[in-house]
Amino acid sequence: TNEEAAAKAAAATADTGGPTIFDKIIAKEIPSSIVYEDEKVLAFRDINPQAPVHVLVIPKVRDGLTGVDKAEPRHFEILGQLLYAAKLVAEKEGLAEGFRIVINNGPEGCQSVYHLHLHVLGGRQMAWPAG
Ligand code: AMP
Repeated sequence: TNEEAAAKAAAATADTGGPTIFDKIIAKEIPSSIVYEDEKVLAFRDINPQAPVHVLVIPKVRDGLTGVDKAEPRHFEILGQLLYAAKLVAEKEGLAEGFRIVINNGPEGCQSVYHLHLHVLGGRQMAWPAG
């Protein structure tokens, strides 16, 4: 049934706390197009871009941050660093006219990778509300 299919789809993207594809990107076991990197943060191009510029900004160490809903006070510093790195990415990509930062959370938020990431989207006019 449709209901079963929907439940299955949600389960397929549930937060298991297990390793994700981003671990392999961080370890450079699979290639990515890196836009920005520092000690704590990695930013690379999304493989399925939704705008002319679509970059993912992630913490190199997940430390329980499968999603923003798992944020704790110990994450305050990395959370700030991620947002600041997103600004650097926007600057580097020439998004002076504007850009959008998105965090999808959980099945209803359309999260598919359970390692916190900011989407930085730009290079076209955005619409609101987001779909
Ligand atoms: P979300 O749906 O918010 O969890 O975002 C996950 C994003 O990761 C999607 O936009 C995917 O296109 C992207 N993605 C998945 N695998 C890769 C990969 N190997 N390299 C770059 N981006 C990826």
